[in-house]
Amino acid sequence: MRKFESVDDQMLIGGARAVDLAEEYGTPVYVTDEDAVRTNYRAVYGAFSRRMPTRINYACKANSNLAILRVLEQEGSCIDAVSIGEVEACMRAGFSSERILYTGVNVSNHELSALVNRNITINIDSLSELERLADITSGASVSFRMNPEVGAGHHEKVVTGARSTKFGVPKGRIIDAYSRAIELGFRPVGLHAHIGAGVQVAEPFANVTDVLVSVAQELESKLGLQLEFIDIGGGIGIPYRPEESPMDLDVLAEAVTSRIKNGTSVQQVIVEPGRYIIADTTVLLTTVVDLKETPDKMFAGVDAGFNTLVRPAFYGSYHHVAVANKFGRPGEMVYDVAGPICESGDHIARERLLPRLEEGDLLAVYDAGAYGFSMSSQYNMRPKCREVLVRQGRTNLIREKESIDDLLSHDRIPARLMI
Ligand SMILES: *Cc1c(COP(=O)(O)O)cnc(C)c1O
Repeated sequence: MRKFESVDDQMLIGGARAVDLAEEYGTPVYVTDEDAVRTNYRAVYGAFSRRMPTRINYACKANSNLAILRVLEQEGSCIDAVSIGEVEACMRAGFSSERILYTGVNVSNHELSALVNRNITINIDSLSELERLADITSGASVSFRMNPEVGAGHHEKVVTGARSTKFGVPKGRIIDAYSRAIELGFRPVGLHAHIGAGVQVAEPFANVTDVLVSVAQELESKLGLQLEFIDIGGGIGIPYRPEESPMDLDVLAEAVTSRIKNGTSVQQVIVEPGRYIIADTTVLLTTVVDLKETPDKMFAGVDAGFNTLVRPAFYGSYHHVAVANKFGRPGEMVYDVAGPICESGDHIARERLLPRLEEGDLLAVYDAGAYGFSMSSQYNMRPKCREVLVRQGRTNLIREKESIDDLLSHDRIPARLMI
């Protein structure tokens, strides 16, 4: 969890006062500290690249705002994309096609063609996808996502590497997949696995690297195949709770790179962090609009709901909440923080000890940068909110608020219903 500075009880984000940001841009609003994005990128790139040649593929589904993508493009990052829309966004943000690796699941022929047209390297998820790709193109560099039968994560919904999930070529078929790819004229260059999300310790990454290394050895001995990269996926967790500590990147990088270097002649490691790079850079600011005392609880009603930030409702995730205009004051009362969506599951936080709240107070929801805006929706016909980038006290609007007209512009009423 990041520490924020304050002046006279006023929280600062990237050098700007939270109340000023709320005043200028309205709430709810996502506010990202640009320097924090750069610092996080450099931390993870540095830990791995000190040990072996490294490519960081930022998993842009965590946050695909064009301005954020520009920042990471400037840092030299590459991209993990999971849809043609993400590929398009990254190309518009200045990423060349060779800096994008596409890892889809249940990919349609239509999407495969669009990727081939844009010269994007495809990380193939199934034998069906391989055969269907061969009908469209040949000779391309490809890699495979294997199901490593090593899964981990902060919630059952985010474990991707376990045997029972839909992801990847089953471990028992992976050698066949490479030999078939060679037969079809492809050039297999890499091997990938992704265990899950929110993994706080190095051990599952070490375990999946062991599996990847043993497959790379088998590819070399059985098929004479020399891979260019091993991609250990993403899933590096962050401490959402005050008492948690961050992943030790040096321990992680040492565990992974020592295994690759000792076990194979593969020259490059790829890491695909999404959350680690963007989560703690961003705060969601939301205004207390209503206070309600019920026989059981005190509710702080805010203008952000699970349409704005779905993680608490969807995964039961914890996001730390502070009162931005009473920052650092001691807690006095326990509140549930709930939004305007007509579902009882619409909460941002439960049972938080906060300074006594009044209508108009400004709450800061921490660590909202990953899977925050990107998972937001217009449910209940609520337009998506603004996003703002802050750098050393200077602010830029990086996403305009949607209008109700935007929401309605895709609906069509048949003429016969207009009579
Ligand atoms: C989502 C995803 C990631 C990133 O996960 P984080 O938990 O945000 O690091 C990386 N690789 C693949 C294939 C993914 O689907």
